Amino acid sequence: MSIILPAVFFGHGNPMNALQDNVYTRGWRAVGEKLPPPRAILAISAHWYVRGSGVTISMAPETLHDFGGFPPELFAVRYPAKGDMALALRVQELLSPVPVSLDRSWGLDHGTWSVLKHVYPNADVPVVQLSIDGTQPPQFHFDVGRRLAQLREEGVLIVGSGNLVHNLRTYAWGSEDAPPYEWAARFEAEAKGLITAGDVAPLINYQEMGQDARLSVPTPEHYLPLLYVLGTQRQNEAITFPVTGMEGGSISMLTAQVG
Ligand code: ZN
Repeated sequence: MSIILPAVFFGHGNPMNALQDNVYTRGWRAVGEKLPPPRAILAISAHWYVRGSGVTISMAPETLHDFGGFPPELFAVRYPAKGDMALALRVQELLSPVPVSLDRSWGLDHGTWSVLKHVYPNADVPVVQLSIDGTQPPQFHFDVGRRLAQLREEGVLIVGSGNLVHNLRTYAWGSEDAPPYEWAARFEAEAKGLITAGDVAPLINYQEMGQDARLSVPTPEHYLPLLYVLGTQRQNEAITFPVTGMEGGSISMLTAQVG
């Protein structure tokens, strides 16, 4: 029987993690060292949140510096992973009849490379990104994850990159060690409990989870990558949390690994 690769949701947090050696980036590296080697990666990043579904098809995807106000060292980072046309076409096939465009305009955004730079520092695994269709409801994103699950048997590592709790309005800029807000800690704990119990319905319908959820997920783009990864879970398959922590009081750095 062939190897079934895990699928991993990473809480990426501050783009500066790309350059830093800290508890999160060491955790990401450890995740990569323990995974069976994939032939390719399919990444779903909070930072490619657009109208419609698309997959990147450039064979040399550009490292996108899709942020402002960071030091030149961060703009100098390149993540020279190759693309993978066969994987892009396979995603198109698996999601049919949902239309998936073949996209040459996007490359690898910082949601993808700030994490992969630590998981696979040699950039020697080809990477394809799949956009998040912001016009679709949460259930759609979970269902896309289910249809992509097959890729785990085809040597593809499915990576979601976002943050379970992501509130920049309350973020304690300059004091990343600030204790978590009570609502952030409560929502993270509740979500972890649901993930562990395999109770995905409330996580899909997170907008009905009350005030803690509204504060923790004020906008959907950083939360939705988690639903793709949860969608790949097989029956009775364990989910672990190899990296945990809360930055600046309201950014959850939780990593959730399926399988
Ligand atoms: Zn982000």
